[in-house]
Amino acid sequence: MTVNLRRALAASKPALARAALLSLYASGVPLFAPRSMKGMGTIFMLHRVREPDDTDFAPNRILEITPAFLEAVFLHVHERGMVCVTLDEAVRRIAEGDTSERFVTFTLDDGYRDNFTVAAPIFNRYRIPFTVYLATDLPDGTAELWWVVLERVIASANEMRVHFPTGDETFVTRTSSDKNAAWNAIYWRLRALGETALRAEVRRLAAEHGVDMRGVTRELSMSWQNVRDLATQPYASVEAHTASHVALAHMSVEDARTDIARGLARHKLELGRAPQHFSYPYGDPTSAGERDFALVSEFGFRSATTTRKGLIYPAHADGLMRLPRLSLNGDFQSLRILDVLMSGVPFAMAKAAGAQGID
Ligand SMILES: [Zn+2]
Repeated sequence: MTVNLRRALAASKPALARAALLSLYASGVPLFAPRSMKGMGTIFMLHRVREPDDTDFAPNRILEITPAFLEAVFLHVHERGMVCVTLDEAVRRIAEGDTSERFVTFTLDDGYRDNFTVAAPIFNRYRIPFTVYLATDLPDGTAELWWVVLERVIASANEMRVHFPTGDETFVTRTSSDKNAAWNAIYWRLRALGETALRAEVRRLAAEHGVDMRGVTRELSMSWQNVRDLATQPYASVEAHTASHVALAHMSVEDARTDIARGLARHKLELGRAPQHFSYPYGDPTSAGERDFALVSEFGFRSATTTRKGLIYPAHADGLMRLPRLSLNGDFQSLRILDVLMSGVPFAMAKAAGAQGID
């Protein structure tokens, strides 16, 4: 069987990835994966939980799962004999090498309002612990959810002009297929500019096209009252995700430290406790690296999670500031694909093929 796993798991090739992972499922290989390959447990990453919009242009849909899929995952992990634990307990097991049973723990990044209105009631009904990693500028109403704003600009415009360092480029954005093509052409080029230039350009586009950035933040974020209510729920915990949701690696170490500290101060003031766990904004290798892992450990967090894809193995006891996660978001919303990923086989194959890891 030839499966190019780096390509298979690359987000830019979702159709190919799905096909490759489903072919692994059909092969039956994951059924025979040894326990050592399956690891000790899995930290799931989610963002939003809600019913999907009925639209053909929704590039940020990759950040969403449906309530029905979340419930299906609960039943699935239960049937597979895995236990759902708090993030605290997951980190204890990793730190102490407790492999008595395979665990899963659920984490939701950023602080979207649907975490409170849609996801929390589902977790509570099933009595399953979950953690929200909160970027405190969301409830403060000052966050720039630039990825949503860019989507809204493209959705509303028939044509748009983007300033790149190489010069202005104009995109026709009339039909859904135009809009998807424009998103694909613009998104990663803006990301590559770095956080400051990227945000400046999205701010300019928002102004030019009449999209209210602060309005988007207020519409989509939990309020502090929501966050406080959430934090008192028995199965919920609220942890840290910086203040402004910056890619730490794009900032000077002083600015990165200041942003983390500002988030901690807001968190303590509003919730009366210091967060114990941290999640890197974006969390991919270009957004958080060795310098940032060291910086975050200075703050005394018990753990920190990335968005690098992987299961948890005993060796992660030595990497508590760089724990991988498995995304429930996006293109892989399938229990069969989840089975393949949680077998550890794709990750072992990628490692055997000499990949640095599946990012
Ligand atoms: Zn985030």
